[in-house]
Amino acid sequence: MVSTSRRELVEAFRRGERQLWLVGGALRDRELGHPGYDHDYATDALPGDVEALARRLGADVVTVGKKFGTIGVLVDGHWTEITTFRGDSYSAGTRWPDVSFGATIEEDLARRDFTVNALAEDAFTGRLLDLFGGREDIRRRLLRAVGEPTQRFREDPLRILRGMRFASQLGFEVEPATREGMEQTIGLLSTLSQERVTSELDRLLQGVDPARGLELLRETGALAVVLPELASMDGCEQNSFHRFDVWQHTVATVQAISSEETNLRLLRWSALLHDIGKPAVRHRKASGEWGFYRHEITGALLAEAMLDRLKLGRRESLHIQLLIRRHMDRPNPGEQRSVRRFMAKCEGHWRDLVALKRADNASHTYDDNPYHDRLEAACLRAEAEDAALLRAESPLSGDDLIEMFDREPGPWIRRIKQRLSAMVLDGDLAPGDRAHAERIARGLMEKQRPGTRH
Ligand code: ATP
Ligand code: MG
Repeated sequence: MVSTSRRELVEAFRRGERQLWLVGGALRDRELGHPGYDHDYATDALPGDVEALARRLGADVVTVGKKFGTIGVLVDGHWTEITTFRGDSYSAGTRWPDVSFGATIEEDLARRDFTVNALAEDAFTGRLLDLFGGREDIRRRLLRAVGEPTQRFREDPLRILRGMRFASQLGFEVEPATREGMEQTIGLLSTLSQERVTSELDRLLQGVDPARGLELLRETGALAVVLPELASMDGCEQNSFHRFDVWQHTVATVQAISSEETNLRLLRWSALLHDIGKPAVRHRKASGEWGFYRHEITGALLAEAMLDRLKLGRRESLHIQLLIRRHMDRPNPGEQRSVRRFMAKCEGHWRDLVALKRADNASHTYDDNPYHDRLEAACLRAEAEDAALLRAESPLSGDDLIEMFDREPGPWIRRIKQRLSAMVLDGDLAPGDRAHAERIARGLMEKQRPGTRH
């Protein structure tokens, strides 16, 4: 992999008398005080010229996006996208059938989705171009469409979901006229490909403030279009353990999965879907309370069909279904058998299940965390013990056996060791229990050598 440096890249564009502007998310994130390495540039050079220029610098180049105007270049070890200005005014004709290029940075910025994403910085002079008040909107933490919202969302309805995704990722409010534009065009979401929709939902769920994104989905009517399977949660009242209806409880559960979780993605999806079975199975119990008998089983089935439709991936779907199906499990932490059985049913995902159970509990009227602490401790203990069981080492080595029986090495050693390790695996011999192992070994030797006197 060969990089060029930012300085060399800028110099090459300057020599070539081409413009180069830093654009998009990098400037937004820098203004927010968390600069990343997502450096995208816009230029008036056509893609073929950008490619030639980058190749002359000896840098690695990626051309998969070329017909959409984007060339990838390795700069200071990071993939950097350099995209020809977008616009309606100038079309380069038949050579570039899928996209029309613009002549100026102003035109390019006017075609971007939100003001906070429509800043540009001149790579030669460092001058910031802020045509739509993006900096002020970043300061006020507002997502505002560039131009007339309804028209911009009609042009590309994905922008509606991008807005909700950014609200979740950045914790920003959607400006009222922009929000109204979303509501007016919400039906157009059904024209988008499932892959694009799922990708935005996936990112929305992983934001720092997913509750904000989820409420936007519901309030604008997007939920009924992109996640109709969840629509009946809204207003589905629960029993007195709950402060919330099923939808509000779901949102609180998603929010309660910390952004720091290692398995954030699947945990947030599981939280979103853990009670998906509730509306379908709700019934009145003799006590007059609402019951949701076996909603976790129905829920896992509903989730399977829904995740299939969303094309989330088979492995991911199975993992999520498992967590849904098991989220009501309540093993007794004081009972080893109960804990072991629970862990076996979790198929290696007990940590995720405990995390989901804790989040689920966060919006109940009672505090169940002492229980979860005990369960977690019991699982950790069982895991440590099981590790020794699974290693299934014979407590006695070959040398131990030779010394014990004062015999020449031979196949008898392997037979005894195998037997001892099988007993460790079955739990009939504690790992490292030499005294017990010696008794067993003696018994085995007697059986193996029926002719010997002892
Ligand atoms: P991140 O990469 O962190 O998700 P980003 O702002 O860089 O955020 P990208 O999807 O990488 O988002 O897009 C880069 C820039 O391209 C955006 O900042 C925005 O200006 C513009 N953009 C992307 N998609 C659209 C779209 N559908 N309509 C208009 N402009 C868009
Ligand atoms: Mg980006």
